[in-house]
Amino acid sequence: MASSPVSPAARAGLLVFQPLKRRRCAECHAGPLPLVALEAGEPRCLDCADLGHLVYLPRGDTALTRRAREGSGLWAVVVRFHRRRARYERQGVLVEEAALARAEERCLADAEARARRRSRDAARRAVEDVRFTEAFAAEIRRLFPGCPPDRARAIAAHASVRGSGRVGRSAAGRALSEGAVTAAVTAAVRHTATPYDRLLMSGVPRGEARRRIAAAVETTLRGWRAPRGRPASGA
Ligand SMILES: [Zn+2]
Repeated sequence: MASSPVSPAARAGLLVFQPLKRRRCAECHAGPLPLVALEAGEPRCLDCADLGHLVYLPRGDTALTRRAREGSGLWAVVVRFHRRRARYERQGVLVEEAALARAEERCLADAEARARRRSRDAARRAVEDVRFTEAFAAEIRRLFPGCPPDRARAIAAHASVRGSGRVGRSAAGRALSEGAVTAAVTAAVRHTATPYDRLLMSGVPRGEARRRIAAAVETTLRGWRAPRGRPASGA
């Protein structure tokens, strides 16, 4: 066992083995042992090897392992021989319990700090979203003064949903260009004030459906472009 190669990283600490065969302690004869320390080629239980006070931390959490190891005055790497791969593989470490507790606290503090930062970011984005939606709605009301305010708000909110890829989130929408705002309003009118969706559902090709509703859309838009309470002529 001791003559078999181990990784350079494992050499940095003491080595403890998960034995493949049943092993007994050469000193106190306890066994079979789940973990074996070798002293001059002879198996020792952890107690006889003066490692009995260490606690086992399985591999998997790199930051926790590093911190627990760094905080331990005495520590060991636990390895097991993998027959097919013909090499020793790290299973975990034995570290001092107090060091593990400190490491867990620090990792927990990091996780909490990350969670706090995530929630601050989310709050900031929510504020940005509200401001953007308000600005978008204001621009709709400027270009379409006849549009009912609640419709303007709904269109702006719909158009500025984060990550939706809708017009409100595109570069042009961000800049609140007249074209982008008009496109968002036109789309809203098409879907809510005309039979457009019903036509699409009944199998009418999109181009044909758009042609059929074009006049209705134009009429609504013309009405909204006029100041409220003063319908445009012909609307
Ligand atoms: Zn022993």
